[in-house]
Amino acid sequence: MNTNPFDDDKLREECGVFGVWQADAAAALVALGLHALQHRGQEAAGITSWDGHHFHSHRAMGHVAGNFDRDEVIRGLPGRVAAGHVRYATTGDTVLRNVQPLYADLASGGFAVAHNGNISNAIKLRHDLVRRGSIFQSTSDTEVIIHLVATSTYRTLIDKFVDALRQVEGAYSLVCMTPEGMIACRDPLGVRPLVMGKLGDSTIFASETVALDVVGAEFEREIDPGEIVIVTESGIKSLKPFPAIHARPCIFEHVYFSRPDSIVAGSSVYDVRKAIGAQLAIESPVDADLVIPVPDSGTPAAIGYAQQSGIPFELGIIRSHYVGRTFIQPGDQVRHLGVKLKHNANRALIAGKRVILVDDSIVRGTTSLKIVQMMRDAGAAEVHMRIASPPTRHSCYYGVDTPERTKLLAHKLDVGGMTDFIHADSLAFVSIDGLYKALGEARRADVRPQYCDACFTGDYPTRLTDQEDLPVTDQFEMLAERAL
Ligand code: AMP
Repeated sequence: MNTNPFDDDKLREECGVFGVWQADAAAALVALGLHALQHRGQEAAGITSWDGHHFHSHRAMGHVAGNFDRDEVIRGLPGRVAAGHVRYATTGDTVLRNVQPLYADLASGGFAVAHNGNISNAIKLRHDLVRRGSIFQSTSDTEVIIHLVATSTYRTLIDKFVDALRQVEGAYSLVCMTPEGMIACRDPLGVRPLVMGKLGDSTIFASETVALDVVGAEFEREIDPGEIVIVTESGIKSLKPFPAIHARPCIFEHVYFSRPDSIVAGSSVYDVRKAIGAQLAIESPVDADLVIPVPDSGTPAAIGYAQQSGIPFELGIIRSHYVGRTFIQPGDQVRHLGVKLKHNANRALIAGKRVILVDDSIVRGTTSLKIVQMMRDAGAAEVHMRIASPPTRHSCYYGVDTPERTKLLAHKLDVGGMTDFIHADSLAFVSIDGLYKALGEARRADVRPQYCDACFTGDYPTRLTDQEDLPVTDQFEMLAERAL
């Protein structure tokens, strides 16, 4: 029985957020911004606007293009204030009611929220709220925030908002709209990114700087971990209402998740990925004829590997850009087909060559297995796999979709076993220290890690309440049974 009141498989989502305060055609700008953030979530998209009197909302399954490139949709989202969201949730239960921004009429007026991250105590909070009478409209963890704001006994909306967030564990980069203003906020660990920019006199919030570039906005600064920025008619205010803690931004944003043309934490994602590739070449050299990226996510690291090793970089795998990411195909069978659709060997180049394949990560191992075989079918003499991250041994509970732990190849097998599984002549991963080095920060043992690297180390920066708290799930099972 499904005892999880949220999506049935898991809670985790990948998302991007974008907000515009006081610009003409705000919704059209949001559509452009979301387009640039499409890699953060391809399953659904939504935009909410405020025209000074009313909120308007359009939410749809599918890509931004196709939903928000139509005049009549944008015309239906009038006003100079708008926020949007792209989302990828992992289950069949991806119904429209879960598509963000989520909206509610609170005592203070309308309140819309777009969330990137994942609340790691959402089940427990939801359980408590339901017991106190809250009626949930969606199965999204984000809705917990709305109910906590709605039921807070503090007086002002901002105080209610802070009160709500003090109860929340995990990762949240939020862009919220109220009739008075726009609120952007990053959790105290700063797990997910959130930046602020200027477009003339307008204020823009975005998950990544690439979205600022696309609308022609100037990057101003990152929202600090634990910071709440409030923009109203009377100006911009910054609050830091949470106890200061050691920030732990997600390391996987640099490895895979963010677009290479974004600047995250002051570093070019592209440069960092090249540096990881170079570090990989130093740590795990191999005699070969070609360095070949697994496109597109392995490309910057492969360039770094090739430059460091002096082995020529070549495009030995050509990717079709008309297929979504392999990883997001539901079900193992379709995923398997998706890989074939997506990548093809450049046979003329490969035959008789010793090749080094570079990819950013191995999750289930599906991609690596297929691509190594593809190289062998194309006549490669040797196939060596190099991975620009440490083995992914642990699931993410903070907003990057990963399968449950038992499905992670590196959880099941050591590097030798993984080498056999993917049928490579050799396989190596960059070390965690090497990864930190490439990020420009030596990993000092006496300092807690500067990033959330839990997917590689298992060192989660928060309690995983919903994972630990089995009795709560049991209670839900009881409740569900009683309801039958
Ligand atoms: P797998 O085939 O399951 O081993 O997945 C590895 C491939 O998926 C790599 O090529 C990565 O670029 C990509 N990947 C890794 N993590 C994610 C993620 N969270 N979402 C989508 N794709 C991912």
